[in-house]
Amino acid sequence: MPCPQLFIALRDNMKTALGPELEHLVPAASSSFLQELVAVRRRMHIYPGLSNWEEHASLEVRGALDFMGVAYDYPVAGATGVVATIGSGAPVVALRADMDALPITEDTGLPYASLEDGKMHACGHDAHVAMLLGAAGLLKKLSENGELQGTVKLIFQPAEEGFGGGMRVVEEGWLDGVSAVFGMHVWPDLRSGVVATRKGTIMGASDKFKMTYKGKGGHGAMPHKTQDPVLAGSAFVQGVQPLVSRYTSPTSAAVISVTRFNTGDGAQNVIPASVNIQGTVRALTTKQGQDLRRRVTEVAEAIASLHGLEVEMEWAKLPYGATVNDAGLAEMLMTEACANEQVCEWLDEPTMAAEDFSFMASKVPGLFAFLGIRDEAIGTVHGLHTPWFRIDERVLTTGVGLHVRTALALLRRFQVPHEL
Ligand SMILES: [Zn+2]
Ligand SMILES: [Zn+2]
Repeated sequence: MPCPQLFIALRDNMKTALGPELEHLVPAASSSFLQELVAVRRRMHIYPGLSNWEEHASLEVRGALDFMGVAYDYPVAGATGVVATIGSGAPVVALRADMDALPITEDTGLPYASLEDGKMHACGHDAHVAMLLGAAGLLKKLSENGELQGTVKLIFQPAEEGFGGGMRVVEEGWLDGVSAVFGMHVWPDLRSGVVATRKGTIMGASDKFKMTYKGKGGHGAMPHKTQDPVLAGSAFVQGVQPLVSRYTSPTSAAVISVTRFNTGDGAQNVIPASVNIQGTVRALTTKQGQDLRRRVTEVAEAIASLHGLEVEMEWAKLPYGATVNDAGLAEMLMTEACANEQVCEWLDEPTMAAEDFSFMASKVPGLFAFLGIRDEAIGTVHGLHTPWFRIDERVLTTGVGLHVRTALALLRRFQVPHEL
């Protein structure tokens, strides 16, 4: 049960995020609505499901939609995804939330911390689901009032964390006939309640590699009798960095981070027969990410041939492209979706974190935004994907309001004018 202060903040934030035009929706966000908003999020937090195993989240979503009388399709993009539909006719716009958790052991000490060993909602997707369900409740109310001119699809997708649930949503045709799609992510680098977005690229393209150099091991005192993969591996670590500093335009940006260098656990005076090196590549455009994949492979092969080694290179099966916002939609978020008293900001720069929302935003015009959750006073300062990650639940209603206002703004934008 949320404490009274949380409750009051949720109600205030709901009012602010809906703005004066939608004030008549505030009673619909009743006490039980706010309680359930928090409760859904906490239940999901207690029972996290990894990518493609989001059974609990899927049950929560379907249970809530059934309760609200909202129609939906299921399963979507695998066994757990759900697409709800509210309203009818053209235009059709979409809102999206992801549902999966991460293989991380929670260390927050929260009373509703994960009960599943080694699984945690450390990316806030539990909050994303709760906010979109809250939006479903209010959009349903608008639809019943005859205030919804068109159709809103609410996409609850599985497997964002590296498994491309968003791609499956696109492949299965759930965005066919959709004019635009909106998604948001809770963001610990932004002050609580702040909404921020950007025109163009907001999140980078992401790729991962695993590489093995195979040589000939031997005594460390007789290196001339070996083919040393450690030396070659070191050359690789150094050799890929010029791809950022010399190959990438100075006005663009890219990241190549070697994160693992494993020579095995042999004796200290033995040169191993192989080394395994792993890392990640990030770029600001999908094309740049593809180019860097090719160039990193070339560097790996050139160094292998120089040192007389074999090389095995394995890349991510599903690299994520850059998430690119439609400029007009980003402007719309600032001017129409953000209610008057709400703090909305332009982001100075994109982040190199990646999102599988990119698959959706490359199919139809996309709009992605960050919702701040940072508040030192309550300790919501830890990064995404850490065991200490926490969100500021007071912003749950800010997210609900933003979804609703964005959906309405999108419907207005894509309205087909009546013939005179
Ligand atoms: Zn994540
Ligand atoms: Zn995430």
